[in-house]
Amino acid sequence: MPGEITNELTRATGSVDAPALSEERAGAPETAELAAQNEAFQRRGGPAEEVLRFVAERYTPDVVLACSFGAEDCLLVDMLSRVAAAIGIFYLDTQLLFPETYATLHRLEERYGVHPMRVVPDQDVDAQAETYGPALWERQPDLCCQLRKVQPLRRALAGQRAWITGIRREQAPTRANAPFVTWDDKFGLVKANPLAAWTNQDVWRYVHAHDVPYNPLHDQGFPSIGCWPCTRAVRVGEDPRSGRWSGREKTECGLHQ
Ligand code: SF4
Repeated sequence: MPGEITNELTRATGSVDAPALSEERAGAPETAELAAQNEAFQRRGGPAEEVLRFVAERYTPDVVLACSFGAEDCLLVDMLSRVAAAIGIFYLDTQLLFPETYATLHRLEERYGVHPMRVVPDQDVDAQAETYGPALWERQPDLCCQLRKVQPLRRALAGQRAWITGIRREQAPTRANAPFVTWDDKFGLVKANPLAAWTNQDVWRYVHAHDVPYNPLHDQGFPSIGCWPCTRAVRVGEDPRSGRWSGREKTECGLHQ
């Protein structure tokens, strides 16, 4: 139901229902300690499994993986199943995802026995059109992303102490300095990027080595997959993210800025 963080799909273990604010989260944001930890990961090339273990040991049960069903996130679901199975998973259902993306969700559920929590916007697409006019993404994509992604993410992270993402430095100039662990000022909790230093080749090597289910659109020219109105296939030689908000200056949805 729109307006709720539905938990019909909550993982069998490691509920991500919002707990009360912990004393630690209410206090100082641990920035110096996180910076030191990040330096330590940086010196060792940031082994992804170590980063996951660090956040799992320190923040479980108040840590969640944000899954958008790109190859990076799918492999993190696999990696979590090996090293930190109690960590909950959620996804932002903008209600504008590709059918292939929903199919990927179901394949991950079957393979790993996980039940990612579905987080929806306050308004469904029809209600948004009544309020703001049709196809808001064509006229005001920043507002559309704010309503359908950023606000739901804020709700999903409420009460958590840390979140895990699949962003990589190589993906975009805006991500070139992504740390392994940091304090996320925008959302007010720790952010972990275990794959920050991974290359595209690293990702696909892992996916194939572990037979991880992935979105079939990746094999059809979609290196980066978001909502269907704002994602197109890219041509050989194009920037991998040029298929997102193609023809606009917009390059990010606001979750990682
Ligand atoms: S990616 Fe496009 S359709 Fe999806 S929330 Fe952003 S502007 Fe709206």
